[in-house]
Amino acid sequence: MKKRRMKNSFKLLFILLIVISLLVIGITFYLRNIKYTFKLEDKITININDNINPKDYIKEMKNVNVYYDKIDTSKIGTYKIKYTVRTKLNIKHNYYLEVTVIDNRVYEEKEKVEVKKEEPVKEKEVVNNTTSNTGTSSKGYKIEVKNSVTYVNGILIANKTYSLPSTYNPGGLTSETSKAANEMFAAAASVGFNMWAQSAFRSYETQQKLYNRYAARDGKAKADTYSARPGHSEHQTGLAFDVCAKNKPCINSDFNNTAEAKWLSMNAHLYGFILRYPQGKTNETGYLYESWHFRYVGKELASILYNDGDWITLENYLGITSEYKD
Ligand SMILES: [Zn+2]
Repeated sequence: MKKRRMKNSFKLLFILLIVISLLVIGITFYLRNIKYTFKLEDKITININDNINPKDYIKEMKNVNVYYDKIDTSKIGTYKIKYTVRTKLNIKHNYYLEVTVIDNRVYEEKEKVEVKKEEPVKEKEVVNNTTSNTGTSSKGYKIEVKNSVTYVNGILIANKTYSLPSTYNPGGLTSETSKAANEMFAAAASVGFNMWAQSAFRSYETQQKLYNRYAARDGKAKADTYSARPGHSEHQTGLAFDVCAKNKPCINSDFNNTAEAKWLSMNAHLYGFILRYPQGKTNETGYLYESWHFRYVGKELASILYNDGDWITLENYLGITSEYKD
């Protein structure tokens, strides 16, 4: 009799164990089935007027329904796409993706420096016009004008005070600049940065189109703070270029805080380049801070201007101005 009862209790215990196990398996399965995943790209940069599909920026999603807004890409700026995620338990979560719209139409020379054919600098015959600021700079450097091109202490200058004739056309980056740029980008690559010269040489005509477009859009006064008038652009010298880095904001202030911008600011001088428009020096250079614009001056001068990271501007060093006459 006692044995029989024992046997029954074991049977009951056994059934109970099976029921509990099934319950645990069931609950686990249910929880796994309603657990959701939703991941977006970090930040994206797109070109003005690009058609974009917010769905393309979802990296991972599981067990959810997603609704998203459209964004207007007809104006440059930073926007957010809102993604509303609805889980199986009908709970809503919101996610945002930061989208920076840039105007890339202006950078017509898409060629990378690496693939650029090196051409010797040809100084074409030029019409004698403009620039009569000869003599000595406020720091005692000799100002010379040769073929309407201004050199201060032998350094070619293109800024708001000193212009280049419309015929000045080295046909691309000068071979020295191009060689130094390749060295710099190779050094950057060796520490894991993928960078290139996105916008290098711009002819007088290209700059004219560009500037006119900006002036029409933002007005002359505003355009003058970030774009050079034709003849005044350093891009026409063949000694300067704008750097872009893979998967980073390109030629806009969002590039400022990237590791690549920091590396450039600390290392460019080793290859003969200067950060041409440093932060807080607008009153000297005439331009807003551009963390992406570099100018070749040779290693010796670049190291002086680097000044342990507190960049000295060409204007300050040479004792010249950068102001339009009108
Ligand atoms: Zn530039």
